[in-house]
Amino acid sequence: AEEVGGGDKEVVREYFNSTGFERWRKIYGETEEVNRVQKDIRLGHAKTVENAMLMLKDEGSLVGVTVCDAGCGTGSLSIPLAKEGAIVSASDISAAMVAEAEMKAKEQLPSGNLPRFEVNDLESLSGKYDTVVCLDVLIHYPQNKADGMIAHLASLAEKRVILSFAPKTFYYDILKRIGELFPGPSKATRAYLHAEADVERALRKVGWKIRKRGLTTTQFYFSRLIEAVPISTT
Ligand code: SAM
Repeated sequence: AEEVGGGDKEVVREYFNSTGFERWRKIYGETEEVNRVQKDIRLGHAKTVENAMLMLKDEGSLVGVTVCDAGCGTGSLSIPLAKEGAIVSASDISAAMVAEAEMKAKEQLPSGNLPRFEVNDLESLSGKYDTVVCLDVLIHYPQNKADGMIAHLASLAEKRVILSFAPKTFYYDILKRIGELFPGPSKATRAYLHAEADVERALRKVGWKIRKRGLTTTQFYFSRLIEAVPISTT
């Protein structure tokens, strides 16, 4: 995807409203049959959600805590957050994703504490939240775009930003494994890996620093999880 018209963002939006929606809805679901690689990614992603929930609960109860889940997908994190009593604002660039997340939330949560759902790209979000979370979204953007996204997410957060991304250290590993699996041209969507030092620098530029780190790896899934806080509070 070259910079034509809207660039990466329009391509990503289109993908997650069509084939990407179907693919990820299945992977993020629990019951539908998926292939071996997808099953592995399902497992890895579930671990990232679990680790993010542990990080989120580490500072105490989530009751009444305002959380912005930017790029919420099918609600994998928003729903458990609401279950813990957090006041969740869930948004995604894809209307299909938001509709799916909202449907699942209504199935699984009491009507009293449903997340507030919104179709919006994270660059356009506004407001202030105790915590801003953005899981496995940066993979769709090159580092030069990711810098601005990270800065914007930090500007929305009062206390914490929790991000996950595919770490660049695993680049050759991923290529090798994907290569073994799909000899010939890959049909995967474009994925961007990020060096942890680049993410750290983007945060530092806006006055934030990394306080905690986690890593989830399975055979085909790699995700670095970080929690950042304003430098002034430490
Ligand atoms: N965060 C969710 C999770 O971990 O379950 C979903 C992860 S999924 C791999 C990536 C999601 O990011 C998709 O739902 C996609 O529509 C959304 N997305 C991509 N670019 C976005 C942007 N610029 N703003 C908001 N959402 C975006």
